[in-house]
Amino acid sequence: MAQFKPVNVLFSDRFMDHDTGGGDHPESPKRLTSILRSLQSGPLKDQIRIIEPAQADKDLILSVHPKDYLMRFEEACLSGRETFGHSDNRICYETFEVALLAAGACKQAVDLAEESNGEVTISLVRPPGHHAEKGMPLGFCFLNNVSLAAKYWQKRYNRQKIFILDFDAHHGNGIQEIFDEDPSVFYASIHEHPTFSFPGTGYEDETGTGSGEGFTLNVALPPGATDSLVLKALKERIEPALEKFEPDCLVVAAGFDGHEADDMSGLAYSTGLFGHIGSFLAVWAQRYCQDRIISILEGGYNPDFLGPSVEMYLGGLAVEI
Ligand SMILES: [Zn+2]
Repeated sequence: MAQFKPVNVLFSDRFMDHDTGGGDHPESPKRLTSILRSLQSGPLKDQIRIIEPAQADKDLILSVHPKDYLMRFEEACLSGRETFGHSDNRICYETFEVALLAAGACKQAVDLAEESNGEVTISLVRPPGHHAEKGMPLGFCFLNNVSLAAKYWQKRYNRQKIFILDFDAHHGNGIQEIFDEDPSVFYASIHEHPTFSFPGTGYEDETGTGSGEGFTLNVALPPGATDSLVLKALKERIEPALEKFEPDCLVVAAGFDGHEADDMSGLAYSTGLFGHIGSFLAVWAQRYCQDRIISILEGGYNPDFLGPSVEMYLGGLAVEI
């Protein structure tokens, strides 16, 4: 029997209060229910520690997003509007506060990674974040949780070199935009080719700008891509970049919508692939950055497969090596 490390899960019932209008909006509270159900009934159940996060203060948010954007977002929620920026981006009265709480959960994940001794930490948050640019909401995202965590890690703990791996089916245009010119944060993403997929960015020739040139790596997979192409990319593209960059910490944008049963992408990953991704990351975290790693939930929209996929991922990360 495999031995699992403790798994810290930053989660609040308040994340359910971000109401995307019910009906058939894919980014629904059911996603988190699915994950918790799997984690609390499967092989990791004795290792899971649920931790209630505290809201982030606005200063943290301002490390990524401009003040006027934050004000527009708050105003849109409090004035009772149902969308912000684009009709996909459903909001409710509670959304602003819930988004601050999600950001707080990502900040706290960093604290846990610093304080714990190699435990696994994941922030199971809504709304997701990787499409949110500095001044623009997109793709159900309002605040860029992963970028906020990276900035916090640098500022609070003076860990200057952060490597972000984003394995969501979609390119994290927001993370790329935020760190495009920043050589201290390496953004690597494996996603469905932008010709076929939202948001239309993440071509392989997008490699960073100015002093950030060479610190962005986009691996664009063809529609229908299965596990083997991801495993090949992890071994042949991502690990060499990681090794060369010598990061102090790893932040993972963990999206599960590349699953073959998830109709938000044309990718065809198995549930088991997420376990392999977790295993790769566990080895890399130990080898390159003294187990300083956090994961933050991004996409994953088929509730029947999201829970098992997250469980598989965490199992891979948490196996004692
Ligand atoms: Zn996605």
